[in-house]
Amino acid sequence: MTFKELDLLEPILNALNTQGYTNPTPIQEQAIPIVLQGKDIMGCAQTGTGKTAAFAIPILQRLQSTKNPEQKRVIRALIVTPTRELAIQIDESFKDYGQNLKLQSAVIFGGVNQTSQVNRLKAGVDILIATPGRLLDLVQQRHINLRNLEIFVLDEADRMLDMGFIHDVKKIIKLIPEKRQTLFFSATMPKEITSLANSILTNPSHVEVTPVSSTAETIQQEIYFVDTENKKDLLIEVLNINKVETALVFTRTKHGADKLVKILNRNQIKSEAIHGNKSQNARQNALKKFKEKSLQVLVATDIAARGIDIDQLEFVVNYDIPNIPETYVHRIGRTGRAGASGKAVSFCNTEERAYVKDIQKLIGLNIPVVSDHAFPATGKIAEKKVQQPRVKRVWQKSR
Ligand code: AMP
Repeated sequence: MTFKELDLLEPILNALNTQGYTNPTPIQEQAIPIVLQGKDIMGCAQTGTGKTAAFAIPILQRLQSTKNPEQKRVIRALIVTPTRELAIQIDESFKDYGQNLKLQSAVIFGGVNQTSQVNRLKAGVDILIATPGRLLDLVQQRHINLRNLEIFVLDEADRMLDMGFIHDVKKIIKLIPEKRQTLFFSATMPKEITSLANSILTNPSHVEVTPVSSTAETIQQEIYFVDTENKKDLLIEVLNINKVETALVFTRTKHGADKLVKILNRNQIKSEAIHGNKSQNARQNALKKFKEKSLQVLVATDIAARGIDIDQLEFVVNYDIPNIPETYVHRIGRTGRAGASGKAVSFCNTEERAYVKDIQKLIGLNIPVVSDHAFPATGKIAEKKVQQPRVKRVWQKSR
């Protein structure tokens, strides 16, 4: 199936084209027609499945199709999501897919001064993406009015529960019109989530995709247990052994990214870093060289990598394992896109062991361990490691 067959408006199709998307992911294929009909959805899907576009695209289309150019801008769609990172990503998606429309989106989240967010709201917003606490704060201060809301999205409902936001969510629901379209997404469906869903959805259609694997079926994943000081040598070895032409390597810090680039270049592996301290120009230049394959390695921090879109990336390295499991899914989701195959390897030191556990829980499977490499971890991890079978391949559907 193509996006064209989903009866999308020309400006949206053009925007998707610009993003390099040709075919909808399974969740998009299921959800888009339902949302376009104005129906409620109960969606069981995680980050990495293309879930954001599954709701963002039809929301944009619905708002655009019923837009009254005479009317003052009011908040017509609200997306509530548990974390600042997710909120920012969702806002970026709305901006990407809606780039040829006149709809305006804005994002608000806590932990930062509210002034610029309030100013943005005053300028007029059609689509608001928010974390629960800041949303309630600004509603209370009357900077936000949800009376005209038409579509409400509750994203990552199970994480809301885990993070203790469920009361805030219930308060938000009391503030929005009863007559509305509701889209409810959760990766898992514990009892509390099902009952919350039942209380806010009207005659919903159920859409479900198997965890992450629908987008990442073709990604081969591996973990290497290694001591921190050996990660750099292991990286060089892994790149060589796998005859990697281009790799995107993730580090946790900007400083770590710069340090690694120096080491790689010293070892004749042409590399550059992209992170928040680099100018937009420098980042774009590095990206261009990487795409043209005149750079072998692009080292990136998560924030810097968020906006970049490289199709058919063959190799992703988690040089540092992310402490937020969804970040892992996002990182590796950059390989194997649109049916292309890819490989994602992760270097895990003692401290990162706990992060791996969280990641495996989220993705619903154990990542195969590569045990015979030149820089095996010493100490506790090494003991655990031998208990794990060496598995060559990889990504299996967990359901
Ligand atoms: P999400 O599950 O919304 O976090 O999306 C996961 C990743 O898949 C994001 O980086 C999107 O840019 C990408 N993506 C979403 N839809 C498509 C599509 N139809 N084709 C290719 N990539 C997509």
